[in-house]
Amino acid sequence: MESNLNAKAELKSSPTKFIPLCVPHIAGNEWEYVKDCLDTSWVSSVGTYVNRFERMVADFAGTEYGVAAVSGTAALHTAMMVAGVEPDDELLVSSLSFIAPANAIKYCGGHPVFIDAEPNYWQMDPNRVAEFLNNDCRWSEGQLQNKATGRTVKGIVPVHILGHAVDMDPILELARKYELVIIEDATESLGATYKGRMVGHLADIACFSFNGNKVITTGGGGMIVTDNEAWAKRAKYLTTQAKDNEVEYIHHSIGYNYRLTNIQAALGCAQMEQLPAYIEKKRSIAQRYTEAFDSVDGLTTMPGAEWCDAVFWLYTILVDEKVYGENSRELLKRLADSKIQARPLWQPLHRSPAYAGSFAVGGEVADKLNQMALSLPCSVGIEDEDIHFVIEAIKTRHE
Ligand SMILES: *Cc1c(COP(=O)(O)O)cnc(C)c1O
Repeated sequence: MESNLNAKAELKSSPTKFIPLCVPHIAGNEWEYVKDCLDTSWVSSVGTYVNRFERMVADFAGTEYGVAAVSGTAALHTAMMVAGVEPDDELLVSSLSFIAPANAIKYCGGHPVFIDAEPNYWQMDPNRVAEFLNNDCRWSEGQLQNKATGRTVKGIVPVHILGHAVDMDPILELARKYELVIIEDATESLGATYKGRMVGHLADIACFSFNGNKVITTGGGGMIVTDNEAWAKRAKYLTTQAKDNEVEYIHHSIGYNYRLTNIQAALGCAQMEQLPAYIEKKRSIAQRYTEAFDSVDGLTTMPGAEWCDAVFWLYTILVDEKVYGENSRELLKRLADSKIQARPLWQPLHRSPAYAGSFAVGGEVADKLNQMALSLPCSVGIEDEDIHFVIEAIKTRHE
């Protein structure tokens, strides 16, 4: 035992220990619940854990309904279908985001309109949303139309990135004025609040992700949450192959095999039990980094609006090359040499070759954030000395 401990301590102080960016933390009832699935043979798409997991997430978000899906991306695709997105519709979506919500729009045959980030909290800029709707659109036969493309503008997909909320009130007001549906991409921000309201329960319908690197994980998985009963029923129907008759296998719609398995849901139930503790840990990691980097010239710590209680899913800093003396990619490389895994933010979607030719509103802010940003290790299970090691590696640059 003792030699074991010593070996562990040695490993920790040596630079050969790898510190990952953000990995799952399995420390609760995961084994027990998964074993229960295996023992009872309820391993597939039906079982009590699926229902329980749906109820737990919906209750946490404060919504009436939760519908599990095989991934966050599948949840987004399904949410868009039930919200009435049709081929050739346009949806406004954050440019500074992981690509999944734009892809989901494409799966519906729609087209993204990429909205720039605002510089303070890095989220979808409500002023850019207003600018597009007020200046670039017109009403035509009861439909809001993009003047440049002639296509119907159907909705808005605000992406609450990195565990922080989008400033939703102005976007909700614009959606009311222009009769647009809002599909919140809350996949990165389970547990964050906006003006005291839960992210995922701010508009019509929302999605969470339980991918391996998210706030909680089911290995892979997602959830649609909404107060709309008809939409929830439709979502369940579409994610389970749109089966209208269990015996005769009659289908009135094209469905999808987007079900989450009972095993995954079992993991999810155990993870949900620990979510409050996870969020607390994420916030304390963020606080430690922020206190350490506030005094480092050339670094901007992760912002938090006073109207948001963020969960700091991925703790991210901005690096000002001129002042800090290294740019974000040089710092990334130097940290990698010390076996510290850091990561830049996503290529802004208006720059993505996969979306060449798409309509974009601004993009300069997203570009600048993409150049400067670096996400740092912030797994729920990260050890104090690992945080210390990361902080020292970043602070000692100037000495
Ligand atoms: C993770 C993520 C998703 C969904 O991801 P899945 O891997 O499909 O669960 C969707 N949108 C954003 C912004 C994400 O970060």
